[in-house]
This record gives sequence, C-alpha cells and structure tokens, in this order.
Amino acid sequence: MQPFVYNALPSRVIFGSGTIAKLKAELERAGCSRALLLSTHEQAESLHAIAALLGPLAAGTFTQAAMHTPTEVTERALSLVQECQADCTVSFGGGSSTGLGKAIALRTDLMQIAVPTTYAGSEVTPIIGETKDGVKVTQRTLKVLPEIVIYDVDFTLSLPPHLSVTSGTNAIAHAVEALYAQDRNPVISMMAEQAIGAMGRALPAILADPQNREARAEALYGAWLCGVCLGSVGMALHHKLCHVIGGAFDLPHADTHTVILPYAMAYNAKAAPEADAAVARALGGKDGTSALVDLATRLGSPRSLKSLGMPEAGIDRAADLAVQNPYWNPRPIERTAVRALIAAAWAGATPAALD
Ligand code: NAD
Repeated sequence: MQPFVYNALPSRVIFGSGTIAKLKAELERAGCSRALLLSTHEQAESLHAIAALLGPLAAGTFTQAAMHTPTEVTERALSLVQECQADCTVSFGGGSSTGLGKAIALRTDLMQIAVPTTYAGSEVTPIIGETKDGVKVTQRTLKVLPEIVIYDVDFTLSLPPHLSVTSGTNAIAHAVEALYAQDRNPVISMMAEQAIGAMGRALPAILADPQNREARAEALYGAWLCGVCLGSVGMALHHKLCHVIGGAFDLPHADTHTVILPYAMAYNAKAAPEADAAVARALGGKDGTSALVDLATRLGSPRSLKSLGMPEAGIDRAADLAVQNPYWNPRPIERTAVRALIAAAWAGATPAALD
C-alpha cells in the first residue's frame, strides 16, 4: 500500500467547441458586470471580438500580457483595473495571458475566468511566476487559481504547428513528473497517464492537419489534465532544469521543456520504475525514455539546447544552478550526473545513454 494525501483544487470547467458563447452567462452567473479582458498583443483582434460579444459587460481591454509575467506590465494593468472599475478579469490566450490574470488576482482578489488557447495548463494551477528586474520568483497560492475555465477548442485551431508541439510536450512534462512526484496519489497518477496518452495521440494528428478538430479537442482535454497534475503535486528535476536553464540563457519556455523531457525521464527511470512503465503504456513503447524520444522524433521537435541558442560554455553554470536548492527528485540530484544530463541535452545525444 502507498499511503497518500489528495487535495482537490476548486475550479469550474466548461469544455467544448463554441463555448465562448457561454462567457456572458458565466459572468452573470458569477455576479460580475465589469470584466477587464486580457491578452497578448498578438491575440488583440480575437480579444476585441470577445469584447464585442460581451457588450456592456466588457469594461476594458488590455493587450500587453507578456511571457514570464513582468511586474511592470502587471502595474499597468492594475491602473486599468482601477480606471474601469473592473470586478473580474477574463484572460484569453496562453500562459502569458493567464499569468497576468493571476498577478492581478494576487493583488486584488478579483475573480478570474480563463479562456486558454495553448496547452500550458496554467489556468488550473495555483502557481504564479513573476519577473522583476530579470529575476523570476514563483509561488503557490490559491488566490491565483482561476475560478472558471472555458476551454473552447475552436481557438486552438490557429495555434501554429510548432507551438502546438512544444506547448503539448510542455504539458506532457507536467504529467510525467506527476507520476513520480513525492506527493503523488492514485487520482492524479490516473489523470497523468490518460493525459500523456491523449497528447501522444493528438500531437502527431495535429501536425498532419492543424485543423483536425477531434485531435485539437483531445489535445486540449489532455492539456487540462496535465495542468491539474502540475497544480496538484510537486514537480521535480525536469521542471527545475527548465526553470534555471531557460532563465539563465533566455531560452524559449516550451521549447526548453521539449528538449529536456526525455533526458529527465532517462535520469529518473530506474528510481521511478512505475512512472517509467506508465509513460511507456500511455505512449506505446518499451520504456518511458524511448517512448518520449520516439514521440519527439515523430513530431520533429527541437532536440538540443544548442539548437535553442544555449552556449556550450554554459553547461557548467547550468549544472551549478541545477544543484542549488534542488526540488525533491526520485533519484538524488548529483552534480556529475546532472552535468552529464545537461551536456547530453545540449548536444542532442541519445538520452538512453544516461540510464
Ligand atoms: P504564451 O502565452 O506566451 O503564448 C505564446 C504566443 O502564442 C503568444 O504570442 C500568444 O499570443 C500566441 N498564441 C497563444 N495561443 C494562440 C493560438 N491559439 N493561436 C495563435 N497564437 C496563439 O505561451 P505559453 O507557452 O502558453 O505560456 C508560457 C508562459 O506561461 C510562461 O511565462 C510560463 O512560465 C507560464 N506558465 C505558467 C504555468 C503556471 O502554472 N503558472 C504553467 C505553464 C506555463
């Protein structure tokens, strides 16, 4: 028997196609009448269309959400919250837009509705990472968990194939680490295995046809489950590596996850055989590492940190950072082995060589 503690996170989830039409009713149901709508600059056009749909319920729009939630952007958005007397936010987009809604909620307790359009999963986590003066600080608090999530598959049809692949693999990483988390439990492990399977089926189909609505629906469903995994149990070596390497060398977030995942799996496989077996079952493969490598190959994913722009001279610095304040990990975090992992990921060498 494996004893466990399970904390369910509160969230109302509406999933389907055309579900944005329910946003107005959701705002009214929640007793809100002045929504501030948030997005990145790139998604401004869709945001304005949503504002038009809401009519007088839309009190304002703010289209400057940015990666890693810079606090100066949050300050500007907070001024608009006051100016338009917003009583809730609607964040539309990927983790950058959701992060801004969370940063506002952290400071004001305003209710949030998230309408995610990538597979990042932030919309169902009580986690926020904010950047001030180039330093990213992450915290967990229920204050930032969006109360309502509207998943509308239609908005994901425009997610470009490369972003779909890296965002989807970023999601898979949440589920893989949930399978060997110190505080894992049977409910989250069940979700994790199902999520990896859903993503593993959907991503190749999306790559073949980005307009494949069934595949898009399966990927978004998988992304929801992966997000719940991330929000419910602790993450380990993989997330630590992505956090420090991505931050130190300013690498793209989802691409970094995509490169590192098979190496993190290889590092942990022997110490977490049940997780390794679950990944293999979900993706269909002889073990977790080779199943993840096969998927990355089929998806034409980025395979080396070198290709993302990390300098070779940075390997030692990355290893130093990775062993400082380490997260709990099923296999002890040991500098020589972690350096070997980073060197292999930098070069795009075969991850199986690590086990
Ligand atoms: P993103 O939100 O930065 O989006 C990337 C780009 O794609 C943006 O320009 C965006 O406008 C565009 N885009 C998004 N959806 C689109 C669509 N459907 N069609 C066309 N373009 C679209 O990227 P992301 O990977 O979703 O989020 C990354 C950020 O989220 C990082 O800051 C990361 O740290 C954070 N994150 C936080 C958590 C958490 O739990 N707190 C979880 C995952 C990611």
